[in-house]
Amino acid sequence: MVNIVLLGAPGAGKGTQAMKISQLYNIPHISTGDILRDNLERGTQLGLEAKKFMDRGALVPDSVLIGIVKDRLSEPDTDKGLLLDGFPRTIPQAEALWDIMDQIGKKLDAVIDIEVPDEVLVKRLAGRRMCRCGASYHVIFSPPEVEGKCDHCGGELYQRDDDAENAIKTRLVYYYGQTYPLIDYYGEKGLLRPVNGTGSVDDIFNKISSVIE
Ligand code: AMP
Repeated sequence: MVNIVLLGAPGAGKGTQAMKISQLYNIPHISTGDILRDNLERGTQLGLEAKKFMDRGALVPDSVLIGIVKDRLSEPDTDKGLLLDGFPRTIPQAEALWDIMDQIGKKLDAVIDIEVPDEVLVKRLAGRRMCRCGASYHVIFSPPEVEGKCDHCGGELYQRDDDAENAIKTRLVYYYGQTYPLIDYYGEKGLLRPVNGTGSVDDIFNKISSVIE
């Protein structure tokens, strides 16, 4: 059983790596971004609230996210381990996570920080195309076999609203202001495991799995 947090700037490859890690270790992939987007598509109150923040690349308020994660971590599938992707993103979220884990008798094993230079992040996000099945592509670096269609399920690819140029800049500002301090926070707890996030998806995945082993 392994309990992991994936840290990294937007575009660092958290989602891509999270899908592979969760398959290999057979642990649930808990992406707060996916949970919010799912609420948005279903038109829930939570989704409508979150949309205002998400579209411009801002962070959704801590209280909302902490509630989502608390509920999700109380589900039984997390007994075999868990992988958090996109949470925590602020110090108050990290402190809340610490308490929640404590209350449910779990502890974090590692916080993997995927490190990628800014200029690479911006290029990755601007060319990113998503499928609703969770797959992600890049118009230049990893295009699908048929333009606009997912290789896995044939679904129509789309660009996330927050991958527009203005929102990308805002997301990086939030990342450096709010999320970057988590590197020191987890460093002090002895949990931080930095991984170089440039190179091929498989190379990065191999580095991450050797850290987990
Ligand atoms: P992601 O898919 O992880 O890039 O998340 C997409 C968007 O959802 C972010 O830009 C935020 O607006 C929102 N979001 C996801 N996770 C969090 C979080 N832990 N705290 C605040 N906002 C979040």
